[in-house]
Amino acid sequence: MELKKKTSASPAVLHQGEFWFTELHAPGTGITFRVRRVLHWARTPFQELALVETEDMGRALFLDGTVQFTERDEFFYHEMLVHVPLCIHPRPRRVLIVGGGDGGCVREALRHPEVEEVTLVEIDGEVVDACRKHIPSVSSKLDDPRVRVLIEDGVAFLKRNRGTFDVIIVDSTDPVGMASPLTQAPFFRTAREALTPQGLYVAQSQGPIFDGREIGRIARAARKVFRHARHFMAPTPTYPGGLWTYLLAARGPKDPAGLRPRPLPRGERTRYYSAEVHRAAFVLPPFVRDFLP
Ligand code: SAM
Repeated sequence: MELKKKTSASPAVLHQGEFWFTELHAPGTGITFRVRRVLHWARTPFQELALVETEDMGRALFLDGTVQFTERDEFFYHEMLVHVPLCIHPRPRRVLIVGGGDGGCVREALRHPEVEEVTLVEIDGEVVDACRKHIPSVSSKLDDPRVRVLIEDGVAFLKRNRGTFDVIIVDSTDPVGMASPLTQAPFFRTAREALTPQGLYVAQSQGPIFDGREIGRIARAARKVFRHARHFMAPTPTYPGGLWTYLLAARGPKDPAGLRPRPLPRGERTRYYSAEVHRAAFVLPPFVRDFLP
């Protein structure tokens, strides 16, 4: 494979004969990975998709030049995005995942025996196919009988599903382009209507080091719709700034941040999530609280 700049957007460079994939988080700051092997590289109808074998972080998925996950540290993100709401909800039977075509959130959701059905709505089928083929450590559960994979826009899908889901997880790319509607009040309204009475909504809501104002914008939009829209945090080593926030909202009257998490299913071992980490994650440092309304 001829390893050199493929498009103006692609941050792949040859450096002293080695191939490095770099994501810039700010004009002079970023993260870079030495690439051993390119597994899949394509421009889909939605984005530039790169799946590579890195020197140190295992296999990694990049979309439009931004890290989606690496095998080495994806557990921080997928465990927190999924187990926080699923351990709070009294009986999470029907789970919807918008985005998440890599399968990481599906894998974590299926660890809960209460979960009877996971619907994954991913707009780009090439992401699902490429991750199924090249990253089974993340995508392995996509073929579980409890999982339904739909290739379509999550916004359109939700409009057709009122009062259906106990937990809605939005695992989308950054809030630009096709993911932009997913962090705005009209979508939050549609999502609230798609929840069951005790339903919970959770989504990644950007990082406080480089995107603090975005966290505040998303929070203001959510608070227009949900009575309780709270935030929790967790480290995400390969995301911009290494620290990430998550939005958790409830359709019902109870503040989800105050609900005591049920223990993880017996025998299920996580690597980052625990009941103690869960409770501590809602303690926001002052510089993050300052971004919130
Ligand atoms: N963990 C990653 C992060 O936080 O950036 C997200 C990983 S997942 C691969 C993101 C997925 O969201 C992409 O595959 C993208 O195609 C999908 N996506 C973006 N907008 C969407 C929409 N409106 N409906 C469904 N899927 C969408």
